[in-house]
Amino acid sequence: MNLHEYQSKHLFHKYHIPVPRGVTVSTSADAAAACRTLGGTRWVIKAQIHAGGRGKAGGVVLVDSPEQAAVEAQRLLGSRLVTRQSGPAGLPIGSLLIEEPTVIAREIYLSALMDRASAAVLFIASQAGGMDIEAVAAQTPERILSIRIHPAAGLQPFQVRRLGFGLGLNSAQLQALSGLMGGLYRLFMDCDAGLVEINPLVITAAGDLIALDAKINLDDNALARQPNLEALRDHSQEDPREAQAKAHELSYISLDGNIGCMVNGAGLAMATMDLVQLHGGAPANFLDVGGGATAARVAEAFKLILSDPRVKAVLVNIFGGIVRCDLIAEGIIQAVREVGVGVPVVVRLEGTNAPQGLALLAQSGLAVITAANLSEAADKVVAAAAPAG
Ligand code: GDP
Ligand code: MN
Repeated sequence: MNLHEYQSKHLFHKYHIPVPRGVTVSTSADAAAACRTLGGTRWVIKAQIHAGGRGKAGGVVLVDSPEQAAVEAQRLLGSRLVTRQSGPAGLPIGSLLIEEPTVIAREIYLSALMDRASAAVLFIASQAGGMDIEAVAAQTPERILSIRIHPAAGLQPFQVRRLGFGLGLNSAQLQALSGLMGGLYRLFMDCDAGLVEINPLVITAAGDLIALDAKINLDDNALARQPNLEALRDHSQEDPREAQAKAHELSYISLDGNIGCMVNGAGLAMATMDLVQLHGGAPANFLDVGGGATAARVAEAFKLILSDPRVKAVLVNIFGGIVRCDLIAEGIIQAVREVGVGVPVVVRLEGTNAPQGLALLAQSGLAVITAANLSEAADKVVAAAAPAG
């Protein structure tokens, strides 16, 4: 789960990580009022969405008057912002963060993340802040510094100094970095974070360090013990299909392709996606209906797949062990009765009650394409999804 910048900055403030003074608003009148509350003659307006790249996409604007703030707020609020991280449909702007402006001397990159390879928290830093850090890592890897935090020892002063020297900080800034990284590490552990990113961490004209941006990603598996953070969830920023799947206890992940996949078992679902790729196709989703699926849940799963307008064909791949194939067939038929189906459906059923399942599908009058094995099913669904000609 991701937090908004303004939520992350509230947490930063609690952990003594310096952030610009700011006010969060959701109407244009409040935007103008926020400028007056903050005082000064210039303000930064920042669209709050769960994606970076806002600066280049027009989601970070400098204004010189409360009136201008109201105009920009009017333009941004309620619209969708498309950035290089948001996906082509963009994300809805429901709130804005209005901040006092910062005079930037240098932009640094700093993050803490859970590194699975070394089973530890890593701090990553770079002098090349404000930019796309993936590009820096790919083109100039020597500009990326990292330190691994021993889980028992915690963050050590020598590690802070190593990063600070690498970033070219002076001694006063080094001291500020020490406090900042200590707070960041405590925040990371207390919140069960997966990633806390400050890009850019700014050195101001006065030489101070300040977090100009803030991004926090939380470990979904830990949310059960983080009710206060779970309460910060913004459903408008999340894939509606993934939320719907969660409500029906289905494991569903949206992908970029056009072949909808309905499979039982996570391993089989992965293998099915591999095979679709091998045959030249691209899956639209990962979906595991689970071992104990009921007809109603299968119906929900099938409706979920069909609700994705990109889906040009569906592959149902069921190996009936605990789950019965006739029950899967009933679920599919139920879903199609309710919402109709405008795309080809390729079905491979194997295992418990497979003949009964196939018979049900045949009797239903549904135009399903059956396949004798998984390879054939993948082949047929890729062909079915391809545009004619
Ligand atoms: P992102 O593009 O979504 O990562 O949004 P950021 O919060 O990182 O802002 C993008 C860029 O806007 C930053 O890298 C800065 O260059 C610029 N920016 C943001 N706030 C200020 C500010 O207060 N003053 C100035 N001069 N630039 C700012
Ligand atoms: Mn940023």
